[in-house]
Amino acid sequence: MDYLLTEEQRMLQDLARQISEERIKPLRAQLDEEEAFPWDILSDLAQADLTGTIIPEEYGGLGLGSLENCLVLEALAQGCVGVATTYAASFLGAYPLLLYGSEAQKARYLPPLARGEAWAAFALTEPQAGSDAGAIQTTAVKDSGSYILNGTKQWITNAGEAEFYTVIALTDRTKGARGASAFLVEKSDPGVSFGKKEKKMGIRASVTREVILEDCRVPADRLISKEGMGFILTMKTLDLARPGAGSLAVGLAQSALDEAAAFAKERHQFGVPIFSFQAVQHLLADMATKLEAARALVYAVARYIDSKPKDFSKEGAMAKLFPTDMAMQVTVDAVQVMGGHGYMREYPVEKMMRDAKILQIYEGTNQIMRNIIGLALNKEYSRKK
Ligand SMILES: Cc1cc2nc3c(=O)[nH]c(=O)nc-3n(C[C@H](O)[C@H](O)[C@H](O)COP(=O)(O)OP(=O)(O)OC[C@H]3O[C@@H](n4cnc5c(N)ncnc54)[C@H](O)[C@@H]3O)c2cc1C
Repeated sequence: MDYLLTEEQRMLQDLARQISEERIKPLRAQLDEEEAFPWDILSDLAQADLTGTIIPEEYGGLGLGSLENCLVLEALAQGCVGVATTYAASFLGAYPLLLYGSEAQKARYLPPLARGEAWAAFALTEPQAGSDAGAIQTTAVKDSGSYILNGTKQWITNAGEAEFYTVIALTDRTKGARGASAFLVEKSDPGVSFGKKEKKMGIRASVTREVILEDCRVPADRLISKEGMGFILTMKTLDLARPGAGSLAVGLAQSALDEAAAFAKERHQFGVPIFSFQAVQHLLADMATKLEAARALVYAVARYIDSKPKDFSKEGAMAKLFPTDMAMQVTVDAVQVMGGHGYMREYPVEKMMRDAKILQIYEGTNQIMRNIIGLALNKEYSRKK
């Protein structure tokens, strides 16, 4: 379908697709098997200027918006969701800075990010605080010109590889979520260490580790915005990032559909290509229809975000929920279309099915997305009474 993209958007999409096709696809099975971090591909992305897409021009980026970010993420995820997650999680770490950072903080951290010389991470989750982000226990205690951070962040994408981390910690334990604040923590800060590399079901090219903070002293000017802004900043960051998760799902599902359809043309049973069976065509038809609906939703929400509305929590949650549920279903169906071949590691759809699952979990589970949408609907319909 033609989404009436501008010439600039099409060029960006073509560039990301080219890297995905030529650099990511040939390596994805190996990266998955070896659980290897994709440094070479990240430097290709930097060389192609794709590391600065959403970073303002004054900090060396391209100053592009949410739709352009979604186009790039979709293209990269067509190659490998593990690689695309690494790329996306760095922007997740950068959003708080883009939204609320001081000039000095932006000037220090954004240019290396735009050049692809540094990568970022977002550290919110803790062992006892997953969906219930307000239950975090990491503390940041003010001590003259510094803050001292203590706590453990769990399952942080890019941990150990990223140069800087947006860490959410309590500056006032008595206030719960309203006592949370956001800090920039550098990999080389004293008291920062990382846990073991987690062994995961999918997205194995993406690295997931604990970030351990033990009497980690950072200068007071590493606080982003003001004390007590951590929770609001987290919610705004996740609202912005969620159409990106939807784009990963769209790219992944497109790849799964392409593989399944091509296989169905080649594979013969009962003397004919399996594509000619109506049961197979119906599976492919449902996959293609849901995929296009998800893509249209993601692009519409991204365009809406680019129009700078005040609040888009509901739309952001919808742009994550529907595409990621769709990708899970489409990848399962792609395996079904390919039968036993789909189950074999020799073909890429078994990896795609494993990769799809995380999209329903991270950046807020899909149950939490339904909670957010339900809450917004409840408010809307209360006003209409
Ligand atoms: C590979 C990977 C990468 C990640 N990367 C990052 C990262 O970079 N930074 C970061 O901060 N975090 C990261 N996370 C953490 C991720 O965001 C959390 O796993 C997620 O928010 C869910 O939390 P949980 O796993 O503790 O599940 P829980 O919160 O324990 O939930 C378990 C189940 O209960 C359901 N549930 C919980 N509460 C409710 C409710 N109120 N209503 C309905 N259902 C509910 C959930 O939907 C889920 O099905 C990552 C996780 C993984 C697995």
